[in-house]
Amino acid sequence: MTTAALIVAAGRGLRAGGGVPKQWRSLAGARVIDHTLRAFEATPQVAHIVVVLHPDDMDQAADLRARGYLVAQGAPERSGSVRAGLEALVSLRPRYVLIHDAARPCVSPALIGAVIDALQTNAAAAPALPLSDALWSGTDGQVTGTRDRSNIFRAQTPQGFDFTSIHAAHSTHMAEAADDVEVARAAGIPVAIVPGEADNLKITQAEDFERAARILKGRQMSVRLGNGFDVHRFGPGDHVMLCGVAVPHERGLQGHSDADVGMHAVTDAIYGALAQGDIGRHFPPSDPQWKGAASEIFLRHAIELAESSGWKISNIDCTLICERPKIGPHAEAMQAALSAIMGLSPGTVSVKATTSERLGFTGREEGIAALATATLVAS
Ligand code: MG
Repeated sequence: MTTAALIVAAGRGLRAGGGVPKQWRSLAGARVIDHTLRAFEATPQVAHIVVVLHPDDMDQAADLRARGYLVAQGAPERSGSVRAGLEALVSLRPRYVLIHDAARPCVSPALIGAVIDALQTNAAAAPALPLSDALWSGTDGQVTGTRDRSNIFRAQTPQGFDFTSIHAAHSTHMAEAADDVEVARAAGIPVAIVPGEADNLKITQAEDFERAARILKGRQMSVRLGNGFDVHRFGPGDHVMLCGVAVPHERGLQGHSDADVGMHAVTDAIYGALAQGDIGRHFPPSDPQWKGAASEIFLRHAIELAESSGWKISNIDCTLICERPKIGPHAEAMQAALSAIMGLSPGTVSVKATTSERLGFTGREEGIAALATATLVAS
């Protein structure tokens, strides 16, 4: 049950500007057509892809063939181009074909998959969006009436068909058609509507490029991870500072600052994600001004560094390793304290604890260890 994709890239549309047909213009780091092809490549059910080129663009064919695509030479009208693409697929005998405009580069593999799914129970299926705006008629800049928008849809592609049926339909439908759904319906093939995606825009005007670039860049979102690890030894005292909370204990933690081992691990995880060293690099222990300092100074600095370099914290996970004090009763307060310092919602900050089964230095209660992971996303 193979599925083929037919990408129509034979248009000459220059309305979008740039001096070359829109499918060849660059957009968010690649050409429009390359984004389109990537979406189909990323859809596992699609076995073959044929690209239909304008006769003037056949110099692109060798590169496309080298990348594993079939190439067909298109015709002046869209329907002629689709026919050429279908002919190029005949020998492969696909069960289904998805016909898509190259100028819709924001199509998602999820939508492509939804159309293929719909073909399992329908002769043809295509995505569309209901209208949310009111619908008017107008003449000479004046509204002349309103139209009922119920049962009106904005058609999108990819439009999916049983291959043999749409091939036959296109072979006999010689008149120009708005799209392949029109050709199918003229041949008596019923077409099911699949919910379309608002982002699946067709690039037509210059401003469509900006919107498409925003959508595609959003999907290329960068993510960075960092880890942090810290240990402080027990010494005299009556409480320990852990993740911003003073927890009563018969000993304290020793350190140059307030020795908040959990907050240090979190801070180092953020510095790590930024490839900016660790706390010691930004706040040298040799500098007396940090003696006894509240560790939130360090954490605030790491957050500011992240923000000023274009990153925001997506989530934090911190694990404290000790036999005592018991962390559970204080974990929620620690989560609240850390999230308040970082300006995050508590749901993105995790504080948990484990013992080391009385093994090693934490098991012998010589000190407390902490490790943390930070995820940063481009802001
Ligand atoms: Mg430390």
